[in-house]
Amino acid sequence: MQGMMMEQPLLVASLLKHAERHHGAREIVSRRVEGDIHRYCYRDLAQRARRMANALSSLVIAPGERVGTLAWNGYRHMELYFAVSGSGAVLHTLNPRLHADQLVYIIEHAQDRVIFFDLTFLPLIESVAARVTSPRFFIAMTDRAHMPRTHSLGSRLLCYEDLIDNHKDDFEWPLLDENSASSLCYTSGTTGNPKGVLYSHRSTLLHTYAAALPDALNCSARDAILPVVPMFHVNAWGLPYIACMTGAKLVFPGAALDGKSLYQLIEEEQVTVSAGVPTVWQGLLAHVESVAGSFSSMRRTIIGGAPCPTAMTQAFQKRHHVDVLHAWGMTELSPVGTVCSFKAHQTGLAEDERYALQAKQGRSVFGIDMKIVDAAGEELPWDGNAAGDLQVRGHWVANEYFGGDYASPLQDGWFPTGDVAKIDADGFMQIVDRSKDVIKSGGEWISSADIENVASLHPEVATAVCIAARHPKWDERPLLLIVKKPGSALEAADLLMFFDGRVAKWWKPDAVLFVDAVPIGATGKVLKNQLRDQYGGHYLQAG
Ligand code: AMP
Repeated sequence: MQGMMMEQPLLVASLLKHAERHHGAREIVSRRVEGDIHRYCYRDLAQRARRMANALSSLVIAPGERVGTLAWNGYRHMELYFAVSGSGAVLHTLNPRLHADQLVYIIEHAQDRVIFFDLTFLPLIESVAARVTSPRFFIAMTDRAHMPRTHSLGSRLLCYEDLIDNHKDDFEWPLLDENSASSLCYTSGTTGNPKGVLYSHRSTLLHTYAAALPDALNCSARDAILPVVPMFHVNAWGLPYIACMTGAKLVFPGAALDGKSLYQLIEEEQVTVSAGVPTVWQGLLAHVESVAGSFSSMRRTIIGGAPCPTAMTQAFQKRHHVDVLHAWGMTELSPVGTVCSFKAHQTGLAEDERYALQAKQGRSVFGIDMKIVDAAGEELPWDGNAAGDLQVRGHWVANEYFGGDYASPLQDGWFPTGDVAKIDADGFMQIVDRSKDVIKSGGEWISSADIENVASLHPEVATAVCIAARHPKWDERPLLLIVKKPGSALEAADLLMFFDGRVAKWWKPDAVLFVDAVPIGATGKVLKNQLRDQYGGHYLQAG
């Protein structure tokens, strides 16, 4: 017997319709690349998104065609999120931090028909425009007064605000198939070419429902959300959609991601929750400490994309009374997979136990199932000790990569994440390493994430990165690369002593190298492959 309930497709445009009707006056605040602060509300967003949808049809963008964006977090980017996907085209967010060669590859691979860009990225657009054949137009996301003087784009250059002004807001969002594609995001491709993950309206909506929940990203109509995580990196972890679903105020930082600008925005706009990778928060914390500041409104910060060091959790929670929500995910997971929110019996944990728990990436949100397997594919127990390859499946996990030129990534219906993890009896997952970063010493694994976490607790350490360095006897041994805090005279021997009693003896790195900085990739993660190329022979040379 069939159920007798309405069948309504799960569509991205319905999020916008909801926000307009139920939270129309709620604010969206953006720091613009033009330099000023822009304010409007969901009602304006919806109206301008409909104008832009009409503009897209005047540019003859057919359903399913890709529309590229090269843009910071801001209201115009938000308009495109809904105008493009809502009208049946596919929003393709390009990562401007990628090398121009990779951008050319991605634009051609995706066959983007038009590309919208923030003024900051004009030089990048100029450098790729002659090398790509698919885009018919490049649209500067600005008004007529700020239009760039460039001859290299010729008649292919259009003005965003002209398109808005020249079109009416009478667009009717089409009733699409909920399984049709809504957006496209390429993985960062540290090995080989980037691969496209093609989200559907359905996967996006289900991800939005689940990610907004109290035990996930915990967003509500009372929140003011600051997504520092870029809208060009896995849809800013879904926050633009979550904000529409919940009616939260949105605060977009634009291009100003330094500690001072973020702090100013957080205080002036009374942000309650922010989200970003650890490297961004380092700048914020350093600034707030340098001015002896405090957070008057921020209650939570969501940290993911890379392991959140315990020292950072402590700085937020102990010094600033801001709760840290450690989360794990990936492009292929839309991205949210696990969030470290406590279960009832964990709320009374002692301080040390609480920080140990928060170092874990957390438990599955409903909609994602996970397991760890050994090299033979056999499932390993959830005992907090066994470490294996982490596999997932669920409503918003990629089934295959865009373009048809890749074999299915799935293994027996599960997506192999490329992460090595443990899962404890409460279902809390902890990443040991990316499988390619794991250190294999004498046939046993050492977790670089654990080593980094301990080193980061030392008060004079700003950044700690642990890599596998080749070793004549043990195959590989951990090598620690440290960026010291300004003014520190820390010696290697002192830092190594700090490990005594904190990790097993054979996990202790054999050497520490002090460096000025570590290379950071396009999505804010440390580029360990570069460091391995540079320092991986250290013990061979030393021996
Ligand atoms: P991306 O697809 O660029 O978002 O990268 C996904 C990868 O980032 C994951 O497979 C993990 O290796 C890593 N990652 C994401 N979140 C975390 C986290 N909280 N802790 C450790 N690694 C993480």
